[in-house]
Amino acid sequence: MNDIVVQKYGGSSVANPERIKRVAKRVVKSHQEGKKIVVVVSALGDTTDELISLAKQITDDPPEREYDMLLSTGEQVSISLLAMAIQKLGHPVISLTGQQVGILTDGVHKNAKILSVDSKRVEQELEEGNIVIVAGFQGVSIDNEITTLGRGGSDTTAVALAASLKAECCEIYTDVDGVYTADPRMVPKAKKLNSISCDEMLELASLGSGVLQPRAVEFAKIHKVNLCVRSSFNYNEGTIIQEVSEMEKEIVVSGVAHDDNVAKFALYDVPDKPGVATTLFKALADQNVNVDMIIQSAERNSVNDISFTTTKDDLQKTISVLDKLTAEIGASKYKYEDDVVKISIVGAGMITNPGVAAMMFEVFSEEEINIEMITTSEIKVSCIVDKEHTKKAVLALHKKFDLDDTESDMGSAS
Ligand code: ADP
Ligand code: ASP
Ligand code: MG
Repeated sequence: MNDIVVQKYGGSSVANPERIKRVAKRVVKSHQEGKKIVVVVSALGDTTDELISLAKQITDDPPEREYDMLLSTGEQVSISLLAMAIQKLGHPVISLTGQQVGILTDGVHKNAKILSVDSKRVEQELEEGNIVIVAGFQGVSIDNEITTLGRGGSDTTAVALAASLKAECCEIYTDVDGVYTADPRMVPKAKKLNSISCDEMLELASLGSGVLQPRAVEFAKIHKVNLCVRSSFNYNEGTIIQEVSEMEKEIVVSGVAHDDNVAKFALYDVPDKPGVATTLFKALADQNVNVDMIIQSAERNSVNDISFTTTKDDLQKTISVLDKLTAEIGASKYKYEDDVVKISIVGAGMITNPGVAAMMFEVFSEEEINIEMITTSEIKVSCIVDKEHTKKAVLALHKKFDLDDTESDMGSAS
């Protein structure tokens, strides 16, 4: 072990000067315990949302390069302020941007992927005794352009740095005590999990549990980074993300997730012949649209219907593609809906327990909620339903799968 610890503090943990000073004390404490500390920070509070809103006041369709240039400034404010706070406490510290710590990404603006991390500079600064503060969420592309890593991307910056530095652990500090069985803001009876497997965490994160960016979990799994989620507002034990243990497999459902960043499209009377799906989904991929669920109906009179979902962020791009392609592939029309939500249950124990999906559908039936689309994998079942049913559905599923906690409440920002 090289005694390096990477700590990441999210926006709410550094929302104002008082909180920044408190994080500074916490960082210094870890440093005094003899660790070499690398801190990744997000933009202050809701800064990223405010920057997006500023851009929207200038233009409906901000050019992606300039959007990244703008959004990356948020993290630069927080690294400098945190470095000042630590320096004031009398400790050697330096703040560095994504580019300065060698975070090389692809050129996909707004959602870039990290290709490599050249952590020489960080290692050198640590050797010199500095606490290193790094701007999350940003990198530089092979064409030397500033890129951002998608919403929540500071988590991925932290894990990627931890992997590159072979850090002993990567601690994600946020405004709740750890990973819960459902979003504790929606489900007051959600339970904090002491540990969760990488695979389950990956599903929960991908299915809308905003506590971790999915790519961060993926990175941690591939590079075997010891990852945990904790509160920056107290010293309670957090949640450890680890390889699956036999005991966990006995838990059928570990969590319920919901995601309303979903748009649903249906393409009608698509000719039932080879090549049509390729044309459609290749055109979407060429625009970097991530397609999630895909359903093709049974063939009738040589045509069928194809439904799929994307994120709401990709709504306009998908509409442009369908405007062009619907006639070209011989379909009669398309429709879309963006007032839907994806509700999911996740659990490693589903593989060995038949009937879990049926239990989920039973809940929807009892609550008189119509299911519009369904997908399953070995460890999750997801349903698209009308957005107005979100809370009712999540609470009912949480109860049905025995996840309700009657004793404790969430450890929230105080
Ligand atoms: P940060 O600014 O620290 O990155 P985020 O807002 O990105 O914080 O993530 C923390 C939030 O994630 C919590 O406040 C909580 O509302 C939400 N969340 C959603 N699902 C879960 C879950 N299963 N467990 C814990 N938090 C969750
Ligand atoms: N500030 C960025 C966001 O709000 C990145 C992050 O917080 O992880 O998405
Ligand atoms: Mg986050």
